[in-house]
Amino acid sequence: MARYIFITGGVVSSLGKGLASAALGALLQARGYSVRLRKLDPYLNVDPGTMSPFEHGEVFVTDDGAETDLDLGHYERFTGVAARTTDSVSSGRIYSTVLEKERRGDYLGKTIQVIPHVTNEIKDFLKIGEDEVDFMLCEIGGTVGDIEGLPFFEAIRQFSQDKPRGQCIFMHLTLLPFVKASGELKTKPTQHSVKELRSIGIAPDILVCRSEGDIPEKEREKLALFCNVRPDSVIAAKDLKSIYEAPLAYHREGLDQAVLDAFGISPAPKPDLSRWEDVADRIYNPEGEVKIAIVGKYTQLEDAYKSIAEALTHGGMANRVKVNIEWVDAEVFETEDPVSRLHGFNAILVPGGFGERGTEGKIKAAQFARENKVPYLGICLGMQMAVIEAARNVAGLTDAGSEEFDHEAGKKRFEPVVYHLKEWVQGNQTVERSVGDDKGGTMRLGAYSATLAEGSKVAEVYGTCDIEERHRHRYEVAIKYRDKLENAGLRFSGMSPDGSLPEIVEWSDHPWFIGVQFHPELKSKPFEPHPLFKDFVRAAKQDERLV
Ligand code: GLN
Repeated sequence: MARYIFITGGVVSSLGKGLASAALGALLQARGYSVRLRKLDPYLNVDPGTMSPFEHGEVFVTDDGAETDLDLGHYERFTGVAARTTDSVSSGRIYSTVLEKERRGDYLGKTIQVIPHVTNEIKDFLKIGEDEVDFMLCEIGGTVGDIEGLPFFEAIRQFSQDKPRGQCIFMHLTLLPFVKASGELKTKPTQHSVKELRSIGIAPDILVCRSEGDIPEKEREKLALFCNVRPDSVIAAKDLKSIYEAPLAYHREGLDQAVLDAFGISPAPKPDLSRWEDVADRIYNPEGEVKIAIVGKYTQLEDAYKSIAEALTHGGMANRVKVNIEWVDAEVFETEDPVSRLHGFNAILVPGGFGERGTEGKIKAAQFARENKVPYLGICLGMQMAVIEAARNVAGLTDAGSEEFDHEAGKKRFEPVVYHLKEWVQGNQTVERSVGDDKGGTMRLGAYSATLAEGSKVAEVYGTCDIEERHRHRYEVAIKYRDKLENAGLRFSGMSPDGSLPEIVEWSDHPWFIGVQFHPELKSKPFEPHPLFKDFVRAAKQDERLV
């Protein structure tokens, strides 16, 4: 049966709980254990799928088609364990399940209450797969004291009582602010946060304290004394230049040892950290630099494209270059000539997105990349825009567009080279959607296979003709335009196995121009960079226009 590590946060949000959880997962793996990481989010949305990227950053998609919190991306990047639907849950999902059961009469006429009905539902979620791994790491979103978070805190408290002694531990992440005026590191907010946690019955075993620098011995002892933890269980989490140093940094601070001690595991297996030493070496010792423009819509909030930025970093690590990303708002090209803005970049990436705003700018960015032979990677909407660009400017379909925007604007004018897909095949089932369906979960979501054309650029990049990648979209490139587009030079080099859905397009006479309908960034890891990102950065590195 798995041992459980519950990770909570206090004082302020955005302290890097997800990263700490992911790094701890990696450290336990380095000692030979199997792990699974989970996120429990207190918000009332059923899942983050319908949230604006400005609200909550990127939506991370799992192989089995769940739209989840971006922390699951961190978990996957650090542990390589593919996240599943059952690794992410929100209050909204829990309540909606409880209410469905109530409507069905499953509770046999009982009065439905937070305790026990909601907490039982949370505990049932926590138990899923408990026999499959050595350690289950469960992160509770938000900070202790948040009203919506209370049922989760109560549930983990009960859960630890339901399990045999020593089966569950609590790790609490807080902030140690440095007050410049007095030159002191302040422990009081942490003390208050722990007090809040203890008032709801949870005594932390480990304190992870974010601070700008080291925690002096005096403060460490004070924290241990006032928060009732052992001094060696007060772990400093200093600011790092790269998140990929986190496993090594937490190991140096003794986090994994403190966790194993808290479980009474002795002697602890020795860790093999070579994977992370190599990662840190690559990130801290690049041999060159490239400059890549991401032309998108949600450019003010980098978290909206979290996995893309990380995947580019991984591509850089594979090529031993530092990738400098510049965020360019696609809307500027509606009034500005792309040449002035894009000419200094070694490569251009147009990411996924929803809605019409900025799309004409993305089309111009694709045109600029095609005409100037700049490496281009179009992801999902970025592929669709590249296809529209090809249709309009090369294949002579001047009225080409996407039904996504037609539908929004009530227009009816063009050649719908990108159309609303309402029926598709998943495994051996046909999935159907209609325009009027709920917005949540009505997309082609999760892993689908694709077959790559022999001799194509992508087949060379992947080193195989059979791939499986994650999707999240409603619209598709229309196969009926294939001949016209291929005659213009845009090769349909990846297709769904039944040949009906274009998955990849590439310009045959361009050094590196690839559009993909899926999201390769979701599967990239620092120790296993995704082949498309690895080769895209290689192409950017070889870009000789700027020399
Ligand atoms: N909006 C487009 C669609 O739904 C693209 C989605 C995306 O880029 N993830 O097909």
